[in-house]
Amino acid sequence: MTDETSLSFENLALAPALIAAVREIGYEAPSPIQAQCIPHLLAGRDLIGQAQTGTGKTAAFALPILSRIDLARRVPQALVLAPTRELAIQVAEAFQTYARYLEGFHILPVYGGQGMGQQLRQLARGVHVIVGTPGRVMDHLRRETLNLEQLTTLVLDEADEMLRMGFIEDVEWILEHTPPTRQTALFSATMPPAIRKIAERYLNQPAEVRIQAKTATVEAINQQYWLVSGLQKLDALTRILDAEDVDAMIIFVRTKTETVELAEKLEARGYEAAALNGDMSQVLREKVIDRLKRGTLDIIIATDVAARGLDVERITHVVNYDVPYDTETYIHRIGRTGRAGRKGTAILFVAPRERRMLRAIEQATRQPIQQMRLPTLQDIADRRIEQFKAQLVETLDNQDLGFYRELVDQMVAEELGEPADIAAAMAFLMHRERPLVAPAEPAEPREAPREWRPEGRPRRERRGGENLRRYTVDVGREHGVLPKDIVGALANEGGIAARQIGAIRLFDTYSTVELPADLPEECFRLLKKTWVRNQRLNLQPMEGDQRPPRKTLTLKSGEASQRRSGGDESRAPGRRRARIDGDE
Ligand code: AMP
Repeated sequence: MTDETSLSFENLALAPALIAAVREIGYEAPSPIQAQCIPHLLAGRDLIGQAQTGTGKTAAFALPILSRIDLARRVPQALVLAPTRELAIQVAEAFQTYARYLEGFHILPVYGGQGMGQQLRQLARGVHVIVGTPGRVMDHLRRETLNLEQLTTLVLDEADEMLRMGFIEDVEWILEHTPPTRQTALFSATMPPAIRKIAERYLNQPAEVRIQAKTATVEAINQQYWLVSGLQKLDALTRILDAEDVDAMIIFVRTKTETVELAEKLEARGYEAAALNGDMSQVLREKVIDRLKRGTLDIIIATDVAARGLDVERITHVVNYDVPYDTETYIHRIGRTGRAGRKGTAILFVAPRERRMLRAIEQATRQPIQQMRLPTLQDIADRRIEQFKAQLVETLDNQDLGFYRELVDQMVAEELGEPADIAAAMAFLMHRERPLVAPAEPAEPREAPREWRPEGRPRRERRGGENLRRYTVDVGREHGVLPKDIVGALANEGGIAARQIGAIRLFDTYSTVELPADLPEECFRLLKKTWVRNQRLNLQPMEGDQRPPRKTLTLKSGEASQRRSGGDESRAPGRRRARIDGDE
């Protein structure tokens, strides 16, 4: 890990309101790009940052801009140019999040396709920061509906993307039409000559920040990645826990808040897990690590900072639940396994838009990372059946079964059943709460079309055992929405078949809708841009609304002996405590 990462946000001379915000969001320490960029930007220097999505580059420019903003002057003081409207919205949202303690702060995203009227009204009211696509920003400047005379900072975000999309002339035009005294920061994942030229022409003695990719060998570690699609990350994680031979696992996430949340979600699913983060006292952290060493705990969820230097030989698996900021962090993370000459497995969850980081890691480790096939429910069932058989054989070989044998003979003599039937009944009882046979994978969509159901009507039958879950959308009664508007948007914009849409309930400011639990990532992407009754839909799974199709019970009592005798499903790490997950 670079030295910069041992810095804290408090060391960075940011305004207290921003330090308070990042603390609350749960950022533990600045990412390397932040640690290097923020001091330059706070000092007013121009900057070239070679960084891609996922490195934390948005905060690298947003925090210093916000730190220096003059809230009393409601004129655009900073402009961020972004290649797409999705990115513009994302950046604007990030600014909002960091500005939570800057009262009266206003930011406006402007992009093509959005009604001019709303933008004009907001511009007239006064905003401090504009985030926009080059074309629309140019439009406003030409019409003189945007005045950038007081602009102090200009950021070019994903400059190489803007070049690739043919916006570079617009960008230059905007650069020519902003005060030459402005501070300029240029962020780009790559530095093609055309971008270099822009930097030379428009930036004034810029500082250059680049996260060096060091190479390292990681031979003892089997590296795999799972391209996040279809299932949610949490479901993917539990399948891995159920299907792999995990002794101990460390799961890396980005924020302190997430360490706790993920630990809670795993606990709710019956896996004992603990968080490890920088907010915990040294004593508490040592306690967790000690339990991991002793094997009374198998799963920890950690931030990079908290796991620094962690040395536990039992760790067989490292899961990068959130992609690391840079290759060096990745190498540090996976180095927590494969220790003391043992073999280890590192799994990287990577969203399609983070694929560039995957390639960067392959280069840095000089090794290809294999794409993993996520275990299916059938794989998990097969494995549990094998384990069950092995457990029976082991018991037959090693236990004195005289008493039970007599019991069976007695039942046969009393004509209560054949031996095979009695054995089958016992096997059934052992797995009553968690049957060995997997429920069917999501079946083909039902044939009959499914239309919305007004509140109060009886719940319809769910598709054969398939998981539906509730999602929220940010439009409700107050906005005058009708269920058919939501169905229309989900079906037409999100590509979700109407028959896959379950009950819709309207509340004042939001609504809930039942959809397949394994809604593909693509649907979320498509629906990101969807507006209904002037509200962004913002489809999101409702936390805690997982509906397992059956009950699950894992018992503490039998567990220890099962483990000793080779283990059945208790081998699933952390499945320790009695827990019943009800149907609903
Ligand atoms: P970006 O590279 O700007 O797209 O950021 C990627 C993700 O990293 C976003 O979800 C941020 O919320 C998160 N992030 C940025 N900085 C930090 C930090 N210092 N600690 C934890 N997470 C961060």
